[in-house]
Amino acid sequence: MGSLDTLIDKALGEIEGRGHRRMLSPVTIAPNGMLRRDGCEMLDFSSNDYLGLSRHPELIARARDWTERYGVGSGASRLVTGTSEAHLTVERRIADFKRTEAALLFASGWQANAAVLPALLAAAPGAAVFTDRLIHASLHHGCAAAGVRQIRFRHNDLDHLEQLLARNGRNAPARIIVTESVFSMDGDTADLSRLSQIASAHDAFLFVDEAHATGVHGPGGAGLSAAIPGGVDLVMGTFSKAMGSFGAYVAGSRLLCDYLVNACSGFIYSTAPPPAVLGAIDAALDVVPAMNVQRRTLTELGDRLRAGLIHAGYPRSESSTQIVPVVLGEARNAVAVSQKLAEQGMLAAAIRPPTVPRGTSRLRIALRSTHEQADIDRLLEAIGPCP
Ligand SMILES: *Cc1c(COP(=O)(O)O)cnc(C)c1O
Repeated sequence: MGSLDTLIDKALGEIEGRGHRRMLSPVTIAPNGMLRRDGCEMLDFSSNDYLGLSRHPELIARARDWTERYGVGSGASRLVTGTSEAHLTVERRIADFKRTEAALLFASGWQANAAVLPALLAAAPGAAVFTDRLIHASLHHGCAAAGVRQIRFRHNDLDHLEQLLARNGRNAPARIIVTESVFSMDGDTADLSRLSQIASAHDAFLFVDEAHATGVHGPGGAGLSAAIPGGVDLVMGTFSKAMGSFGAYVAGSRLLCDYLVNACSGFIYSTAPPPAVLGAIDAALDVVPAMNVQRRTLTELGDRLRAGLIHAGYPRSESSTQIVPVVLGEARNAVAVSQKLAEQGMLAAAIRPPTVPRGTSRLRIALRSTHEQADIDRLLEAIGPCP
């Protein structure tokens, strides 16, 4: 082994020693949404395909149709030869969906967050960046890439944010607030109306990640920011979760999008999304606004699960969405319960540090509109009373 390999072997050993080593295990997804792992059929409580769109016939048909018409690849980055009419049409549609002036496509949500924050901050060296403590890893990566020290407010504690704004960054060239509208591991929501007021009062720029809200929350599934048009300066979201396929967007003013086309490395130096992905996104934009019944089902299933967990003695969570955490403390407890569920044909992955804070390892239950009430009851039965 070379010296780097030796150090890597040691680092992996340390991860293993903490009980945090992760492995990839293959699953296949059946058309009915059931998962198959190690030859067993399992009910899926882990994927983010909240509306079951990954198998929707219209998304599949349009991905296939656009592939046959335009090919499997886009050939280049957007500023070279990678922009087709379809890219511009889909971006127009995303902006209309999000009720913003303009939108831009990105290859993935991780890439958008990691690349957009450094681009914004390049225009305002020395800007003060205020972040919710529980923001996604990709947003941390964006801050790190920009070389900023985050000023972190307690999760969803907007009084704390206001205190920090009063004390920090008043003489900075700009202030940026970064948060999520639906938090990925806790399933709770940020108060965007109040955030927007706070941002205005402090001349701060508000950046919101709607990865888990897009398709599920807000008017016609357009995300929580769409309920307050103009209230959020730049919104980011994905097509890889409730929207069923892949890719991401940012939506905001024409000025911001024009700037990103000129300054955002992850947009400029990355190949344009391919026709199949554009087709699936275009079809999702057709079907999602009309899925109010499915969105209501998700709310009802979430309420049933939350009530059942409280009944079983678990502490009340802040979740109000399709994501419901069952916090079990130490990583090994979460792994044990996840294994017990797997033996009973249910997949609910254990989420451990560093994805969540130490001592809050959990099952992260992700509901789908195709689940039935009986599925929730079976899940509750298998989870059992709070230990
Ligand atoms: C999943 C997720 C992302 C990343 O999106 P991908 O398209 O999967 O790369 C970004 N932010 C949050 C909050 C997420 O949950």
